This record gives sequence, C-alpha cells and structure tokens, in this order.
Amino acid sequence: MAVNTIISVRNLTKSYGNFEAVKGISFEVKEGEIFGLLGPNGAGKSTTLEIIETLRDKTGGVIVVDGFDLDKAPGEIKKIIGVQLQTSGYYPGLNLTELIELFGGLYNRTIDPLQLLDTVNLRDKAKAKYKELSGGQKQRFSIATTLINQPRIIFLDEPTTGLDPQARRNLWELIKDIRQKGTTVIITTHYMDEAEVLCDRVAIIDSGRIIALESPDKLIDNLVAGGFERPKEVKKANLEDVFIQLTGHTLRPEH
Ligand code: ADP
Ligand code: MG
Repeated sequence: MAVNTIISVRNLTKSYGNFEAVKGISFEVKEGEIFGLLGPNGAGKSTTLEIIETLRDKTGGVIVVDGFDLDKAPGEIKKIIGVQLQTSGYYPGLNLTELIELFGGLYNRTIDPLQLLDTVNLRDKAKAKYKELSGGQKQRFSIATTLINQPRIIFLDEPTTGLDPQARRNLWELIKDIRQKGTTVIITTHYMDEAEVLCDRVAIIDSGRIIALESPDKLIDNLVAGGFERPKEVKKANLEDVFIQLTGHTLRPEH
C-alpha cells in the first residue's frame, strides 16, 4: 500500500547565533500516521516543530508540507495545520466557548463550540474559564484549539507532560481518535511507554541530529537482536499498573 508523504524535511539546519541547534536532519511523515519526535531536553525537537509550523525561521534545508514548499507558500501550509496556541492567548476573562469562537474568528471559520468541546470531552466545562480547568482538561482544551480549522496535520509538543496516569491515558485515546478521523499527528514526548503505544514511527533526536528512525517495535527488536538484555527479570506488572489498579482506570470528574 503506497502511503503519501505529507511532510518532507531535507537537511534542515537551525542556528541560534553561533550555536547550531539542528544539524541537518531529514525525515518524512506519512499521511495518517502518528509520528513521534523523541530526544533529551535541548535536542532540537521544539525548534524543528516550530519551523515546520512556520512559526520560526530555518537556517537551511527544504521543507515541503502537503506539496507546498515552506519557503514559497507558508500561508498554504498554515491553512492545513493545527498548532497548539500559547496559553498566553487564552484571555482570562473568556470562557471556553468564547475562546473557541475567538480562535474560530482568527481562522475565519464558523464552528460550533459545543461540538468541538464534545470531541475532547469538555462540554460540561463550556462556561468555565481556562484557569479553572485541571491539568488534563487544560491539555484537552489545548488539543481542541488545534482542531478549530479542521487541519490535516496537528502538532503536539509534550501534550502529556505533568499529567497523572489516568489523564495521560485519556489523552492517548483522544489522540488516537483524532488520527482515526484521518488527521496526521506529530507529537513529542519524554514518556517512552507513550511513544510505544501511540507512535507508528519515531525519530530519536540527539544534539540536533537524528540517530534513529523506525517503528518502536523495530527499534526494540534491533536492540534485542544486538544482544541487549534487561539487567533483571521483568515483572509482569510495574508500579504504574499498581497505581492504575488502585485508583481506577476511569478519569475523575476533576480531570
Ligand atoms: P527540545 O524541544 O528538544 O528540548 P529546543 O528545540 O527547544 O529543544 O532547543 C534546542 C536547543 O536550542 C537548546 O539548546 C536550546 O537552548 C536552544 N534554543 C532554543 N530556542 C532558542 C532561542 N530562541 N535562542 C537561542 N537558543 C535557543
Ligand atoms: Mg521542546
């Protein structure tokens, strides 16, 4: 089955002054996949995402998104991507419904705020202010704002950082639903279990270079084939399993 390439990045470089944060990386994202960018803090993940999102200038390289060259048609790219807006844009006086209407206006779209809030399970918070939401609810709202312009691709930069295990799992389901509807997802995370569950393929970036690019399954197989063994026998459960078992699988109302 031939799958279309929706994002192509060739020899991307980015320097901040004398410091080269991204050192010539190349990768392709296929239409409909969940693609992960993994790597230590400072590896260059956010820089790379923000360049593709047209929010940051690149130093060198060629980026093509859905056939549009970033250098020639950034406006066309903006129309088909969904980006998490900075929380500073969430005017404190407005409730969630009003914020969605405001953002819809920015995209020149008329949207039904309640329907959008439904997709992220926040209908009952329609009249709440952003600051009144829990961490998980904030992240779900932030993901809702990426969907306002019905994008073909969404970018999620550490969407689950700081969330409790239930809220994290809840967000995985949301992200899978979004992909199920045909949207391509690019995500960064520091949680390897999350990348394993969610991502079709991951690029591991270290100091501005891609050091591996494969499906999680293949990367693990490669490591094992190289003779790697865990130092001690793995138990059939881990502490996170204990936590989930004890506190319940379902999301609390306050999440
Ligand atoms: P990641 O998202 O992988 O943690 P970033 O892309 O945020 O990494 O940052 C990559 C490197 O570039 C880091 O060393 C960071 O300090 C540096 N950097 C990021 N943004 C700027 C900036 N605006 N000015 C100077 N250096 C920056
Ligand atoms: Mg980052």
